[in-house]
Amino acid sequence: MEARIGIVGAGPVGVVAALACAKRGLGVVLFEAEREIDHSPRAATTHPSTLEMLAGLGLLDEFQSVGLKARYFQFWDGVSRTLVAEFDHHALRDETPYPYVVQTEQHKLSEIALRRLASMPDAEVRLGTGIIGVTQDERGVRLTSNGIAGPEEHAFDYVIGCDGGRSTVRKCLDVEFEGYTWPERFLVLTTLFDFAAALGCCPRSYISDPDEWTNLFKVMGDDLKGRWRAVFPAKESETDEEAFSESAVRRRMVKLFEGHPMDLLVHRNIYRVHQRVAKAFRVGRVFLAGDAAHVNNPVGGLGLNCGIHDALDVAETLHRVASGEAGAELLDRYERRRRPLNIEYVQQQTVANKKRLEERDPKVRQANFDALRRTAADPRLHKEFLMRTSLIDSVRKAGKIA
Ligand SMILES: Cc1cc2nc3c(=O)[nH]c(=O)nc-3n(C[C@H](O)[C@H](O)[C@H](O)COP(=O)(O)OP(=O)(O)OC[C@H]3O[C@@H](n4cnc5c(N)ncnc54)[C@H](O)[C@@H]3O)c2cc1C
Repeated sequence: MEARIGIVGAGPVGVVAALACAKRGLGVVLFEAEREIDHSPRAATTHPSTLEMLAGLGLLDEFQSVGLKARYFQFWDGVSRTLVAEFDHHALRDETPYPYVVQTEQHKLSEIALRRLASMPDAEVRLGTGIIGVTQDERGVRLTSNGIAGPEEHAFDYVIGCDGGRSTVRKCLDVEFEGYTWPERFLVLTTLFDFAAALGCCPRSYISDPDEWTNLFKVMGDDLKGRWRAVFPAKESETDEEAFSESAVRRRMVKLFEGHPMDLLVHRNIYRVHQRVAKAFRVGRVFLAGDAAHVNNPVGGLGLNCGIHDALDVAETLHRVASGEAGAELLDRYERRRRPLNIEYVQQQTVANKKRLEERDPKVRQANFDALRRTAADPRLHKEFLMRTSLIDSVRKAGKIA
């Protein structure tokens, strides 16, 4: 029996879920409220475990061709401007065919996957179609969208809500989004300046500083010429105008590198950051995946990776149930796996990563640096650390949750 799956949201999680379902022979309709994919600077770091999944969907070659491979990442002490520790993904070469991360902006993944979906007969993409209602009974789910002539109804066997942190699907299900919002917002300044040449840092560098930490990383940009994003905490009291002002931007960039030319700055963005997990990941025939199910701070680049893992899990589950290979009880496994894994590998790691960057107590800072140095210097600990940061441990643990 062929099932029809409605997917809400054509962000990176929605498009991957749609492609994974369509490739398994499920009929897919993907709804996206906007007419175009959002290009604002968000996720860029794709870890080895997720690269394996993109390879399985046949997306990896094109995805890598518009990004850059980053084998190393570094921790720096921003006060003394010294390198604390460097980690090398090559330590994972016996665990994964992809012992590196790929830095490709998330909108590129959405656009690549949308092009693939366009050529698949059982997949329909409806851009500019926002979902405003979700109802269900034991036989199916109905999504309501706003049509030109009034509300339109669409019937499905199952629905996957991939409609981001403010998910309408989650709200329609009345599922609580448990957690908290950080008081400070995160400011992203994008520049064409080459920090690797100026500072000797690598394309993923975390700079700890009790006054103001920085995440510094490189992406290729749409022109593939390369650019750097510097992420800073904005003070609670700082308005958008103040954070974007020439003097505040100059102060931050000059602190990173004294000779940073302001005319190389190409983008400014500021956003609010949360640590939240939906109380339920499934209600009846409706699943939540990606930011609709969980949000976190971006230090470590884990949120989207985990969302893509959700997408593959729900697609496999629906295929097995719809094809009769498994009974409806398999549907429960999605939440049994995905919710605790998000808490253990994404919420806990990102909170710890942020805390390490902003630590103020000199003794704790020193202890953190010593621990990082010890971990990097010991091959066993080095590999264990990367198994966790790359979410390979999370994928292996998922496989053990029946
Ligand atoms: C600055 C920043 C940096 C980040 N860096 C990283 C990183 O390096 N690595 C990482 O893993 N994560 C990172 N993240 C997190 C990452 O961006 C998100 O986890 C990711 O966007 C989630 O994808 P998604 O598809 O679940 O949701 P979204 O990307 O939010 O997409 C949701 C889509 O649903 C659509 N939509 C919303 N409501 C409706 C509706 N009612 N009907 C139809 N469509 C709807 C929206 O228009 C949107 O296109 C970062 C986040 C930020 C803000």
